[in-house]
Amino acid sequence: SRRILSGIQASGALHLGNYLGALKRFTQLQDAGAPCFLFVADLHAITVWQEPEKLAAQTREIAAAYLASGLDPARSVIFPQSAVRAHAELAWVFNCVARLGWLDRMTQFKEKSGKHKERASVGLYTYPVLQAADILVYKATEVPTGEDQKQHLELTRDIAQKFNNDFGVPGFFPIPDPVIQGPAPRVMSLRDGQAKMSKSDPSDLSRINLTDDADTIAAKVRKAKTDPEPLPETMEELEGRSEAKNLVTLYAALSDQTKEAVLAEFAGQGFGAFKPKLAEVAVAAMAPVTAEMRRLMADPAEIDRVLADGAERASAVADPVVDEVKRIVGFWRA
Ligand code: ATP
Ligand code: MG
Repeated sequence: SRRILSGIQASGALHLGNYLGALKRFTQLQDAGAPCFLFVADLHAITVWQEPEKLAAQTREIAAAYLASGLDPARSVIFPQSAVRAHAELAWVFNCVARLGWLDRMTQFKEKSGKHKERASVGLYTYPVLQAADILVYKATEVPTGEDQKQHLELTRDIAQKFNNDFGVPGFFPIPDPVIQGPAPRVMSLRDGQAKMSKSDPSDLSRINLTDDADTIAAKVRKAKTDPEPLPETMEELEGRSEAKNLVTLYAALSDQTKEAVLAEFAGQGFGAFKPKLAEVAVAAMAPVTAEMRRLMADPAEIDRVLADGAERASAVADPVVDEVKRIVGFWRA
């Protein structure tokens, strides 16, 4: 049977890419009746330094974003990753299933570790193995994410397959399907059309945060990198103009229109005219979400109840799977 699993790292402020590529998609799947398990990835967050006194607040903020974007804790299971021990336990077994050669190919590690990979945490390297455990510990069948997670999801499939083969348990882990869909699976940085918009980008001007006010959003869009050409009539003519293409994609996704319809409206106009309109649709789409996030964060009691209840429901599914894995691997039992 169908089971959806995804997560967002507690690594800082959420942005438009997270909203369009992840949050909004989760809500659509939930509302279509799919059972969803959505976690706040705090174990993943500490693969890079997180201030201990801020981490719990960051975790609550992601939970608030889940709730504010329409996830219903009665239907979806919302929980902190670290509160369900099964994730870390299964990750260890998978560390012994995955091959170094597989991890050596992961481009996210190369990007995040930068020039000095010897100074990166071991956790950053083995991040995709923990991600495989997150997914498979629920025997999830579908994993909605942004485009950047495609390679990690392929690794998850490889780990599931190898575990099933090595231990002679065909079908024990389902081979989960990546669900990389929607109008904006890869939102680009406002400063660089070749880099994706990221929480961890040191430049706050590179992204529109869910918590930015209308003036900040307008200023960031105004400063967004573009080119001097006016908008063309067709999407084909936007090839090679990555920054321009990104802004058109954003406008379309935020206003629930096709890119073609956006170009039909703005063809011939320059970015001086287009940018204020883009800021307007961004503010209109995000304002209700940010207002609800602010309301929820004013009193964290409700968020904490949701997370505690979610952790219990998630553990009830994940713990028996880990028990079964331990039996399959052959660990001692009384
Ligand atoms: P970090 O820079 O710390 O990795 P992030 O912005 O990549 O943060 P994550 O928590 O790693 O955010 O990812 C959460 C979800 O958001 C994932 O499904 C991911 O694919 C999606 N996502 C992240 N960035 C984008 C983007 N620019 N466009 C579309 N989806 C995105
Ligand atoms: Mg990321």
